[in-house]
Amino acid sequence: MGKSTGFLEYKRELAADRSPLERIRDWQEFHDHVEDEALRLQGARCMDCGIPYCHSGVMIANMASGCPINNLIPEWNDLIYKGHDQEALDRLHKTNNFPDFTGRVCPAPCEGSCTVGLVDQPVTIKSIEYEIIERGFANGWVVPHPPNVRTGKKVAVIGSGPAGLSCAAQLNQAGHLVTVFERTDRVGGLLMYGIPNMKLDKKIVERRVDLMRQEGIEFRVNTEVGKDYPVSQLQEDFDAIVLCTGATKPRDLSVPGREFSGVHFAVDFLHKNTKSLLDSALADGNYISAKDLDVIVIGGGDTGTDCVGTSLRHGCKSITQLEILDKPATSRTKENPWPQFPRVYKLDYGQEEALAVYGKEPREYAIMTKRFVGDEQGNVKGLETVRVSWQKDENGRMNPVEIAGSEEFWPAQLILLAMGFLGPEQDLLEQLGVSRDARSNVKAEYGSFKTSVEGVFAAGDMRRGQSLVVWAINEGRAAARECDRYLMGSTQLA
Ligand SMILES: Cc1cc2nc3c(=O)[nH]c(=O)nc-3n(C[C@H](O)[C@H](O)[C@H](O)COP(=O)(O)OP(=O)(O)OC[C@H]3O[C@@H](n4cnc5c(N)ncnc54)[C@H](O)[C@@H]3O)c2cc1C
Ligand code: SF4
Repeated sequence: MGKSTGFLEYKRELAADRSPLERIRDWQEFHDHVEDEALRLQGARCMDCGIPYCHSGVMIANMASGCPINNLIPEWNDLIYKGHDQEALDRLHKTNNFPDFTGRVCPAPCEGSCTVGLVDQPVTIKSIEYEIIERGFANGWVVPHPPNVRTGKKVAVIGSGPAGLSCAAQLNQAGHLVTVFERTDRVGGLLMYGIPNMKLDKKIVERRVDLMRQEGIEFRVNTEVGKDYPVSQLQEDFDAIVLCTGATKPRDLSVPGREFSGVHFAVDFLHKNTKSLLDSALADGNYISAKDLDVIVIGGGDTGTDCVGTSLRHGCKSITQLEILDKPATSRTKENPWPQFPRVYKLDYGQEEALAVYGKEPREYAIMTKRFVGDEQGNVKGLETVRVSWQKDENGRMNPVEIAGSEEFWPAQLILLAMGFLGPEQDLLEQLGVSRDARSNVKAEYGSFKTSVEGVFAAGDMRRGQSLVVWAINEGRAAARECDRYLMGSTQLA
């Protein structure tokens, strides 16, 4: 695979991103393409290691080590190295319905377990994936493939995020008539209204959805199942149902002053921004603006980073991102060896941009919010924090312990809560009568994806809790396989 001595001969190289100061002036994607020759050499760095953990996707220490959808990485690296781009694309589509999404937004656990990473920088797997699919589109190789035969069975997929979309694509390939219900006005779930445009251009989502329409899938937007479309009718109209409604309940911060105006959930901030951007290039004003404001984002993860990038594009006055955990190590610790997913410090796009504008990385670590402070009109004007030190209790569990005398006040007129999600909304699940687990997620065994109600399956964030696009694709595909088996008695879906 690749060239066995390639990793010794060629250095890891990625395409340069657009400069932070230039890209914060618009909402366009910031990644560039790799030149042809450079791409081939990056493919050549795949070293025929014999044990490609990169495509294994096994769980180690509660994290995916390798690709969760088992992309055939060494095979397409080799095909790219040898210039067989169309075959590389075919190989990629065998395991991944949407490399156009993962090639842009996946955190690439594959690279964390790449064998070259033991001795040098890993192969640029994600960037090669992105090039394969974009060259596929540019050359007209990505075309609709409607099924030759229809089974006459009808399936409803509820929710159009990556789990719902991959499930629908697979069930349609098996010949079933698939209808995808989506309560918002656009298809894509968090691909559309969570991840911002500069990370995943919404035209890319629409490009894929258009292909799926041409393959015969019906999309019904502005239709909330359980409200606009009764559950009883759904069970009458369809032979099977796959629930993919996501884990959309955001975690709140119940500290004094939470009621002040100017404190918002990150998802509301991001959703409104993208909708207004797509509807009117932000001219309608239907979004929460960060312009000229001191912004504080609570939560140091990816959603928080998206809030940082969005606030900068609005023209905020200052930006700070608070994280309760300690700053990660700059390289792997001995508790986090290869091939585990590397839990190391990284400067993501939003922080890189903040650094370029203010000369300072926006994240503050090991810090906890004690209360929000407001003015007489009920508007937030800042928050109070305390620094924490993480200490083991008698059961060996790590807990944050407040450091006396470390209290601080931070001025802010806009505060965004990006502290993760608590699980799926319960209304539809109650109407259907499906069982939930202790975390309020839908109870359905991984592998069977069957809920407690006959003919109803569940996949994605609503089953496993808030996760990643690549896991949603994994679950959508696998649930489609089990749904097909339920409808037909056997399945040929991969
Ligand atoms: C801001 C943000 C940024 C992220 N960035 C990344 C990233 O960079 N990389 C990554 O891998 N992951 C990222 N994630 C996580 C990733 O987006 C999710 O894990 C993934 O989208 C889950 O897919 P899903 O299909 O299960 O659910 P979702 O994408 O949440 O889709 C669920 C859909 O169901 C619809 N729905 C709900 N109820 C109903 C109903 N009753 N009727 C009809 N429709 C309904 C919702 O409107 C929604 O469109 C991010 C998450 C957030 C919040
Ligand atoms: S989907 Fe993610 S983990 Fe899999 S090959 Fe692509 S970047 Fe790597």
